[in-house]
Amino acid sequence: MRKIPVIFLILFSILIITACKKTEKETAPQSEASAPVVETAPAVVAPAEDSDAPDKEAEDDGYQRVVVAGTEVRWDGYRAIEPESDLDIMNMTFADFGSFFAEQYPVSRSTYKLMEGEISETEVTHIHSENPGPAIYIVGGVHGDERAAWYSALLMREATISCGDLYVLAPANANGARNKTRYVTGHLDLNRSFPGNPDGDDAEQLAFAIYQDIRGKKPDFVFDLHEAILMNESRDFLGSTYIFTELDGMEDLFFDLLVATEEGTICHNEFGFTGPGPAGSVNAEVTRHLHIPVITVETFRGFDIYRRVYDQLDTIQFTLAFYGMR
Ligand SMILES: [Zn+2]
Repeated sequence: MRKIPVIFLILFSILIITACKKTEKETAPQSEASAPVVETAPAVVAPAEDSDAPDKEAEDDGYQRVVVAGTEVRWDGYRAIEPESDLDIMNMTFADFGSFFAEQYPVSRSTYKLMEGEISETEVTHIHSENPGPAIYIVGGVHGDERAAWYSALLMREATISCGDLYVLAPANANGARNKTRYVTGHLDLNRSFPGNPDGDDAEQLAFAIYQDIRGKKPDFVFDLHEAILMNESRDFLGSTYIFTELDGMEDLFFDLLVATEEGTICHNEFGFTGPGPAGSVNAEVTRHLHIPVITVETFRGFDIYRRVYDQLDTIQFTLAFYGMR
């Protein structure tokens, strides 16, 4: 494990305590963490100040524009407007997004189903190295409309590792992904349904299957891949964020990830952090009940899809290297 100067750890702890105290008071029903609530109702889009000016009419699509992390983003006063894209992700590889997992290691690969025969049927890919090492479990796309999350997980099925075991669940919410919706069915939110119930509703049954699979595999670390779209006061407040419920067992990793984004070593822009995950989320329930460290990754849907997948993959690649698996 790498050593971190004590002063940084102390500063970091203070920051985290402050962040926890702040976020514990607040709730946000549509977000992965207890991020600040959007206090105002979705704003009515104001007409352009000078709507007669011909040069403004050309780009007047009714959306406001704001710069987030150096990039102009459209938003409607409440949500970012996701740039249009039409990727054939099933026929794409790492190379379409950047230089990821280029070095190949010998591994064996197998798959198994969760919820077989059900509307939420999905698949876990198990990548195994002969060399003993840690196990990491990736939950990709608990929310079906957060495409970069499960696109990245689909790509990760082709990754190789130098030791240990990698489990990749993609898409975690297959029915939601198929239907481009956050929910499993109806308005059932998978990320409020953990640890699940085999006799519950569609989301609780799927949550139970995922939770039991994680429990059985006993990974050393769990990734929970998401995306954020809400904005408030001209900034996105959950995109480009790493979420934790407890730092126990991953203090160095969490710190190193933040520093790497700050220094520009990984990802397109600096990532922030928040926590804890809300009740019923993968992050909160796996952390608290299985005592396995979890990081939820939130890329920002106001950005281009290539950038979002890149930042997801960069975060995962960095973490596998941290665990000595690359
Ligand atoms: Zn999500």
